[in-house]
Amino acid sequence: MALLPILQLPDPRLRERGARVETFDEKLHALIADMFETMYAAPGIGLAATQVGVSLQLAVMDCSEAHNEQRVLINPEVLAEDDLEEMEEGCLSIPDVQEKVRRYNHITVRAQDAAGQSYEIKAEGLLAQCLQHEIDHLNGKLFVDYLSRLKRDRIKKKMVKLHKREQ
Ligand code: ZN
Repeated sequence: MALLPILQLPDPRLRERGARVETFDEKLHALIADMFETMYAAPGIGLAATQVGVSLQLAVMDCSEAHNEQRVLINPEVLAEDDLEEMEEGCLSIPDVQEKVRRYNHITVRAQDAAGQSYEIKAEGLLAQCLQHEIDHLNGKLFVDYLSRLKRDRIKKKMVKLHKREQ
């Protein structure tokens, strides 16, 4: 297993739409294991393949405090969503930024697991929020896209400055 570097805003690869996963092989399973390790180390509750430079419809999640509710989300599709609410949100690709965004409090998603088995998940609260956040990533969307242009530009400027300092 290995820690993967997490891309940060404004890396253009974060804007790519992940391709459908068609092959559920050992290579995919190794990537999933690395993504879980990277997510827990960050620490975070969700990580999309697009955040580690792999353009696939794949994300890993664990919203539990005990780290015992691992979920693998492959080729996800939203079946239903309800109850828009303001929720505080952050992202491993946009460190140190927390903003309120509108998310559905109830959501039903169909996806495939690491073995390619199709399953449905009905979620609410934090899990529903996390699902929407990760599915957005797989479509090249970031939570700052929901903010006002002014706020978004300010965050982008801050991130560019941060990267300059690191170089
Ligand atoms: Zn994120």
